[in-house]
Amino acid sequence: MPSMSGNERRPEPKSRLQAASPLESVLEADGVGGAATSDGRAPAGERLIDGAAAAPATPSWKLGTGVLALLAICLVPAVVGAAVYLNHLREMALRDAYGAADLVATGTSERLRWLLQDAEAMLASVAARPRVRALDPGGCDPILAEFRVVNPAYKTLALRRTDGSSLCSELRQPPSQQSVLASPWFQAAIRQPGFHASDGHVGAVTNEWTVRLTHPVKDGSGQAVALLITPVDLQQLQQRLFAQLPASAVVAVVDSANRVLVRSTLQDERVGKPAAAGVGQVIDALRRDARRAGGRAPVSRQFAETGFDGVRRLFVARQVPMSDWVVISGVAQEETLQAYDMTRNRSLAGIVMVLAIAGLAAWRVSRGIRRPIQGLAAAARSVAQGDLTPRAPEAGPTEIRVVAREFNSMVVATADARDRLRASEREYRTLLQNLPVAVVSHARDGSVELFNDRACALLRMTPEQMKGTAADSPVWHFVDARGERVEPRDYPVARVLRTRLPLSPQTFGIVGADAVAAHTWVLVTGYPQLDDKGRVLHAVVAFVDISAQHDAEQLRLAKESAEAASQAKSDFMARLSHELRTPLNAINGFTQLMLLDPQLQDKRRAQLGHVLSAGEHLLSLINQVLDISSIESGQQRVATQAVPLAPLLDTCVAICRPLAQAKAVELVDACPVSGAPALASLRVEADPTRLRQVLMNLLSNAVKYNRPNGSVKLAVRQDAAGNNGPDVHVDITDSGIGLGPAQLERLFEPFNRVGAERTGVEGHGLGLAHSRALARSMGGEITVTSQPGQGSCFTLHLRRAIDNGHGPDPLPAAR
Ligand code: ADP
Repeated sequence: MPSMSGNERRPEPKSRLQAASPLESVLEADGVGGAATSDGRAPAGERLIDGAAAAPATPSWKLGTGVLALLAICLVPAVVGAAVYLNHLREMALRDAYGAADLVATGTSERLRWLLQDAEAMLASVAARPRVRALDPGGCDPILAEFRVVNPAYKTLALRRTDGSSLCSELRQPPSQQSVLASPWFQAAIRQPGFHASDGHVGAVTNEWTVRLTHPVKDGSGQAVALLITPVDLQQLQQRLFAQLPASAVVAVVDSANRVLVRSTLQDERVGKPAAAGVGQVIDALRRDARRAGGRAPVSRQFAETGFDGVRRLFVARQVPMSDWVVISGVAQEETLQAYDMTRNRSLAGIVMVLAIAGLAAWRVSRGIRRPIQGLAAAARSVAQGDLTPRAPEAGPTEIRVVAREFNSMVVATADARDRLRASEREYRTLLQNLPVAVVSHARDGSVELFNDRACALLRMTPEQMKGTAADSPVWHFVDARGERVEPRDYPVARVLRTRLPLSPQTFGIVGADAVAAHTWVLVTGYPQLDDKGRVLHAVVAFVDISAQHDAEQLRLAKESAEAASQAKSDFMARLSHELRTPLNAINGFTQLMLLDPQLQDKRRAQLGHVLSAGEHLLSLINQVLDISSIESGQQRVATQAVPLAPLLDTCVAICRPLAQAKAVELVDACPVSGAPALASLRVEADPTRLRQVLMNLLSNAVKYNRPNGSVKLAVRQDAAGNNGPDVHVDITDSGIGLGPAQLERLFEPFNRVGAERTGVEGHGLGLAHSRALARSMGGEITVTSQPGQGSCFTLHLRRAIDNGHGPDPLPAAR
């Protein structure tokens, strides 16, 4: 229905009754079903969580991630604690290992110190003897013998001057003065003010690695003049030093050049060999420390290094007092940390096991929660898309089972509500479709949204044409009750949209899509559908087809108007006739009086006879006009009675017969009373005088408008009993000039002779009008059929009289 909007079409409204259900509308409005959502939501399902969308956004995280995080929060401190503990264990193990190595190094160093102190004391006592200080080579034997007795640990003793020359020696051929003087150990010894333990070197005689302990022999002025020299048997030293070493320990003593002097293992193989490079660097650093310390106390160092044999060891290096020697004690790192490694590995295995068990438990818990939630989400998604059959699995933790059960109850309730809504919608749709009222609902912009079939039929539009059509579309328009076109802004829909008020019933003519069709007259009402804020949502118009009532009303008005005009005319005619009749009666009366005068000349008598004839003719006309008018206006009521028809017909035929003979027309009475016993008793409801007037007029016309040697036939027909209308029919059939359709149309108009005025037949055109008025006043009718040139059949229809037991009234005399 028309509105104010200029839009012709809206994007595919889903509102036609047959197409869209309220439920679908509700679901669409709520966004349940689609896609996604659509304002986007999306998609679908999205609108189900509109409330959630309105809540403040919180970072999204997955259940698995959360469980992992929880696991991490619980386990990481435990793992870190375990790591710290293991590290502490390792440090403890290292400390114990270094402690053990240091114990060995210290013990070895101390034993060496005792050895060297013994040697110094022994050599100092020897050097202090006068016989030695005398530097007498001849007194050597007693010195050597005494030395051997006092110091059995030392194999031999030698005394050489500072120039290298030998004074005393047990060797038959001691090394030469030059070779000794050139020896580094000798040079180092003579530079020392007192006792000295040399570096390792290969003995010139024994050709074995050895060290020499020396002590200067001084003269009376304190000047060193000779050296007491005793070699050390490194093999023996090794056995003395390392007799009771733990199996894991490796101990070595190196000289100032870091060459191995003695070693707890592989003595023969390693003696004289340099220590491993890494070990040597640490020993050098140790010596630097010792120099910085100024020899106040022996220094030591702990370090881990790989030995010459490729074994990683934990070393403790410790200075040997009274020499440049250093003791190195090492324990294999792997052996040392074996217990720790075992503990660590067990701990790690335990941690891994705990992690695995915790991970597995977390995974199972996560899965146990996730699966029913996923099932719930899938069911919710289906529900959001309009499918209410899926149910959430009632599994997993109790809380989730409760949620799933409540959700399923909600879905069941929703499905029930939907079914009820659909049933209600069907009922509503059926009701609306079967209403005898056309209903059209327009959107706020005026476009058609909803309509029923009756609206389509009334507007002569298909549903496809209806959908989305704008209210002010030119495909339809309105006219008001006067037939004038209504402006679109005054269309019912436009008025409802503009005023937001219901529209009181109004009559409009409406032209639909079929523009050639005439107006359909409708009674239109309308009302707005408002939202909570008073804004128009829809404008609904309902209209009923009142074309039939409208036409009837128009007819009634026309009839009333015609009747009023007719009444006025009849009144006028009656007054006029009355006014004419009075002087005419006077004229006729005086003319008749004048004709009674016996002295009247024949010429004057003839003239007065014409005046009287004309006056009577005029009076007859006036009487007829007055009669017609009074009958039509209802002023004159005809009193009917049961009139025997046959005698009346015989009378009329008898009266007309002379006229017929004069016109050479055969008058055939097809139903003489004698020949038709049934007719003899036939009586009709009529005024006998009026009935004779009518029959005479029809018979005389049949004769008048006949041809020479023509015929006029009179016949009577009767209908079977039970007919409420006229059931006796008197046919007057002539073989005269006949009448065409145009003549038949105007045959009963007063003073219209339909062309007979040109034939020379006398008449004034009132007879038929008068006869039909009389016939109708008696409850009858006159009809006619005619063919030009072949004749006519005038039929007088009358009602059969119900026999009341009285005899027939006497027939009136013929006029
Ligand atoms: P009038 O006969 O005085 O002219 P009527 O009212 O009796 O007036 O008839 C009206 C007209 O109908 C006649 O003038 C004549 O043209 C036509 N008419 C009547 N009866 C017949 C008939 N039987 N055959 C042919 N025309 C007839």
